[in-house]
Amino acid sequence: METEKVVENVAFNILKQAVIYLPDDVKQALKKAYTEETSETGRTQLKAILDNIELAEKHQAPVCQDTGTTIFYVKAGAKVKNLDKVESAVINATKRATKEVPLRPNAVDPFTGKNSGDNTGRYLPVLNWEIVPGDSLEMTVMTKGGGSENVCLGGMIVPGEGIKGVKKFVVDAVIKAGAQPCPPNILGVAMGGGADVSMKLAKKLLLKPLTEHNPDPEIAKLEKDILEAVNMTGIGPMGLGGKTTVLGVHIDYAFRHPASFPVAVAFNCWASRRSTARINADGSVEYLTHMLKW
Ligand code: SF4
Repeated sequence: METEKVVENVAFNILKQAVIYLPDDVKQALKKAYTEETSETGRTQLKAILDNIELAEKHQAPVCQDTGTTIFYVKAGAKVKNLDKVESAVINATKRATKEVPLRPNAVDPFTGKNSGDNTGRYLPVLNWEIVPGDSLEMTVMTKGGGSENVCLGGMIVPGEGIKGVKKFVVDAVIKAGAQPCPPNILGVAMGGGADVSMKLAKKLLLKPLTEHNPDPEIAKLEKDILEAVNMTGIGPMGLGGKTTVLGVHIDYAFRHPASFPVAVAFNCWASRRSTARINADGSVEYLTHMLKW
């Protein structure tokens, strides 16, 4: 099979997997939250979410009606050939998935308000590239819900405020977001770089499993501290009260200009959808996060 078709098929499969089957770490975290939630309303909301997840799997239907914006992250081995075909392959896969899964058409022209009808358009799907050593192509897709995207927040704190300022920025962002991002959420928090770098890093963190903490113990402790702080807000599942507002916090950073301290908070909703596959040099495909069920 020609390269473009292989990439298209794999992109289609991971997109379909992502919108139907939530990753195991997210399901486990939601189940744990359900058993530990003390608010009756919070428990009811978590039960409805868990039932919904089960029904989506049973009927092979998207887990949420908002099938999000399609974002691909590609790790391309430096020796992989035909990389110029990847972009058209992921566009075709997105169009196909919109029809066949189906996905809700979520790509709108900002000037005219016209929906393209197939989830593609200028810069959509989003394609992020990383060149790595080797000869395989690893592709991850995230489908990012609108409600959680609406509250993603980037800003600049006063450099002298340091990490204390970062914590305050995140807690304020969660309080301001309230029920909008369909909690319980997952947060990517990044600092440094510039306004663009911090948000890009923050969003990429949403691909990390909840079981994976920052390898630096000090940053891992900050992840835990922020998690505890945001869960004290009492916003709770779907914003109806409870102790589970956020399931996990991931942190990353870049060095910064001495005069600037960018901070970004990327929110993901409970429907935290991602899936990864690798295409090897011999054309074989490994699905790394999901089992292929069709
Ligand atoms: S924010 Fe997430 S859970 Fe809420 S409607 Fe959008 S995709 Fe669905």
